[in-house]
Amino acid sequence: MKTIGLLGGMSWESSIEYERIINTEVRRRLGGVHSADLLVRSYDFAVIEELQEAGDWDVAAQLLADDAAWLEKAGADVIVLATNTMHKVARQIEDAVRIPLLHIADATAEAVQAEGIEAVALLGTRYTMEQDFYRGRLTANDLEVVVPGAADRTFVNDVIFNELVQGRIVEESKQRFLQIIERLHERGAEGVIAGCTEIELLVTPDDMEQPYFPTARIHAMAAVDFALAE
Ligand code: GLU
Repeated sequence: MKTIGLLGGMSWESSIEYERIINTEVRRRLGGVHSADLLVRSYDFAVIEELQEAGDWDVAAQLLADDAAWLEKAGADVIVLATNTMHKVARQIEDAVRIPLLHIADATAEAVQAEGIEAVALLGTRYTMEQDFYRGRLTANDLEVVVPGAADRTFVNDVIFNELVQGRIVEESKQRFLQIIERLHERGAEGVIAGCTEIELLVTPDDMEQPYFPTARIHAMAAVDFALAE
């Protein structure tokens, strides 16, 4: 089994889900007392959030790239960056290591395409919904991306930072997310990407009638596929 190097804590509310999903799936596939071979670097999210807010992406990139190199040195065979937003600096991380970075948007695009979907809604932080590093990666994979209007984007972003990364699950917010998803469906989206790793803590596949793509789960499963491949 290969060793997974996890860059997490962004936030830990979803990173522990990565660990749970990865370990559960390894046990399911290998049986007995098997569990994943994991190296975890988990950040104080306040530091990351401050860098995002200040637009200090170069500093954030250096931090993550240095730690990815450190995980590689410690024996990691692959880097899994447990957040959609920080894939904004994916290239800098890739440049710092020789092992692959398992890109969350590629794993997600593959899952969307497997359902035969062409137009997909994207919910996430304002960085993910508005900037090209993520949307562009999806469109490069031949997907049409539909994002909420400005007021809904602000709402989604605020729920992520003021509730979800702080471990708060609020029913009223969930209902508004479902209304936003309905509007995106009316605009032609055939499915929804939960493009922030905490959104699936609020809205689960059971809440959805249309195809739903929870990125933490999809990414964690891709990590297991990599770790257990021959
Ligand atoms: N975990 C989040 C994501 O998937 C949001 C937190 C962050 O800004 O890194 O984008």
